[in-house]
Amino acid sequence: MKAVRIHETGGPEVLRHEDIAEPQLRRDQVLVRVKACAMNHLDLWIRKGIPKVKLPHILGSDVAGEIVEVGEYVSGFTAGQRVLLAPMHFCSHCEKCTAGLQNQCREFTVLGNAVDGGNCELIAVPAVNIVPIPDSLGFNEAASVPLVFTTGWHMLVGRAGIKPGQTVLVLGANSGVGIAGIQIAKLFHCRVIATAGDDRKAERARELGADFVINHYRQKISEEVRKITGKEGVDIVMEHVGAATWDESVRSLKPGGTVVTCGATSGFEAKVDLRFLFSRQLSLIGSYMGTMSELHDAMKQVFTGALKPVVDRTFPLSEARAAHEYMEKSQMFGKIVLNP
Ligand SMILES: [Zn+2]
Repeated sequence: MKAVRIHETGGPEVLRHEDIAEPQLRRDQVLVRVKACAMNHLDLWIRKGIPKVKLPHILGSDVAGEIVEVGEYVSGFTAGQRVLLAPMHFCSHCEKCTAGLQNQCREFTVLGNAVDGGNCELIAVPAVNIVPIPDSLGFNEAASVPLVFTTGWHMLVGRAGIKPGQTVLVLGANSGVGIAGIQIAKLFHCRVIATAGDDRKAERARELGADFVINHYRQKISEEVRKITGKEGVDIVMEHVGAATWDESVRSLKPGGTVVTCGATSGFEAKVDLRFLFSRQLSLIGSYMGTMSELHDAMKQVFTGALKPVVDRTFPLSEARAAHEYMEKSQMFGKIVLNP
């Protein structure tokens, strides 16, 4: 089969579209023909080099496709069924996994991170990873949702405990997590302030439901938040930008407010003034992917149309290099999807 693999870390030139052996289906697995695989920033990090990735490696976390073959020990699925894959790998039998906390499993990793991903034609995964999709959902759209909507759901619902009527600040409206965050917060009847880097992205954020949009290049985020909220601040800040926005995120909170972060794209060193942390009773909490239960909760909302996937553009898998170059320019609004 064809796959895009990296044999060394580096720029987009290290992506090789090549012929490799088809995966061997285990009896407890399901073999899926990949129709679409959406990109994430994680693909860029892995390509540039992060620990625990064995080379050669197949990138790609977000997969949608059709079942080709079902392993002997698996029931409930049939060949030809349209599915998406839970973008995670876990042991399924430890204390954390059996408690439904798969993202705290010692073996936990994102599909395409410490295990091979979906930038290929065929992938074999455990049955627990298989999620059937409705016919109304296209493969490109289906591939655009699992990682970011599960991450967003875990951040806002699982970690920050979002409640109706709260005010939520979502940084980076054009990112996958931002797109998910705006919609999830609106689903919980919250007031949403989003940030965006230009007018076009600001308009798209409003279309997704953002009540207010701050231009994070031209305006100071915390000052605009103070104006919008009548000096009160927000209940929750949804962070993944990191060093560049951390101070502004903390400053934007109301007393008792929560910053929840799932990333540090602009750098991972941030300062915390402990006087503000304790006197204003702030919560600064981390979030990593989500649980299987949260994935199913988020996908239910996608399947009914309450949460909408946003696809920016597609590339053939053979043009993965061009797709990586396009993603690095950060001009997209929504997901970039590769089609094998
Ligand atoms: Zn486990």
